Amino acid sequence: MSDTTSHDLVVIGAGAAGLSAALEGLRAGLATAWLEAQMFGGLVLNVNVLDGEVQGSGAELSSTWMSDAVELGGENLEGVASGIERDGDALVVVSDAGRHRARAVVVASGAALKKLGVPGEAELEHKGVSHCADCDGPMFQGQDVVVVGGGDSALQSATVLSRFCSRVHLVHRGSAFRAKPQWVDAVLSAANIQVHWNSVVEELLGTAGVEGVRVNGETLPCSGFFAFVGLQPATAFLPAEIARDERGAVLAVNGMETSMPGVFAAGVVRAGCGGSLADAMADGQAAAQAAIAHLALAKA
Ligand SMILES: Cc1cc2nc3c(=O)[nH]c(=O)nc-3n(C[C@H](O)[C@H](O)[C@H](O)COP(=O)(O)OP(=O)(O)OC[C@H]3O[C@@H](n4cnc5c(N)ncnc54)[C@H](O)[C@@H]3O)c2cc1C
Repeated sequence: MSDTTSHDLVVIGAGAAGLSAALEGLRAGLATAWLEAQMFGGLVLNVNVLDGEVQGSGAELSSTWMSDAVELGGENLEGVASGIERDGDALVVVSDAGRHRARAVVVASGAALKKLGVPGEAELEHKGVSHCADCDGPMFQGQDVVVVGGGDSALQSATVLSRFCSRVHLVHRGSAFRAKPQWVDAVLSAANIQVHWNSVVEELLGTAGVEGVRVNGETLPCSGFFAFVGLQPATAFLPAEIARDERGAVLAVNGMETSMPGVFAAGVVRAGCGGSLADAMADGQAAAQAAIAHLALAKA
């Protein structure tokens, strides 16, 4: 198949890092395009009220980034990236929408929430198994839910759900949280959040919908289930030439550049990225700056 588009910079992923990279490229005058597999905004869409240095809701922020990028002439290629190839001096990003020629590529494909892998979890997806407390919380008004995890995302989500639900069971396999003090305080002071320390989810029960969760041999009746037990970097589509760590996160070996020259990595897909929204945005800008410098060198 011949190349369907040609740009200076193609960004894979239109989350916080990808859109920040695209905006940086566009402001530097690069012909810039992006690919997005789902809904632009990525993980930040999970958040109604951000707790970091960045204000507003995730949806508001990503809409602003997207409209700014379109206004600056950025192009949405409307496809899911399935590979990156080299063609002489250029790179080609392969997607279900075609072959996208680029002088530089930023991989900002982010990460997906990890699954627990217990029986019932996959079967009950969208039948009570949710990944977004802010979006789905109102559906569990007056009901009991289970949240799993001991970090910021789990505690933040348990706090959000406690505003809608009768009771939130917070199941944590450890004996101490590793979250920001503000979330620990919020969880420990909420009358309707019950913490289950040193506890492990064994199974989700129900057929048409979640009816309960087995935890340490005991059944907790509930109708909603939310697991926040870490992130799995979205890197399966990348060529083997791009080095990754044991988690599958992309290793930047030369500043923000990966082991495939001309390909840069930004955001939570990159090993070592801090994990907050501000970190992802800063990463996107830094990766685009590195791509801009790379293109200037290639021209000289
Ligand atoms: C529940 C939760 C709550 C959070 N709360 C906060 C908070 O309050 N404050 C804060 O600062 N941070 C928060 N964060 C962290 C913050 O949301 C993330 O650090 C940030 O959004 C990561 O952005 P990213 O662009 O690196 O990745 P992502 O947001 O994962 O974006 C990657 C994008 O790439 C797309 N993609 C993946 N593969 C492909 C492909 N093959 N082709 C095309 N597109 C692809 C995905 O669909 C996605 O849209 C929270 C995270 C979670 C999960």
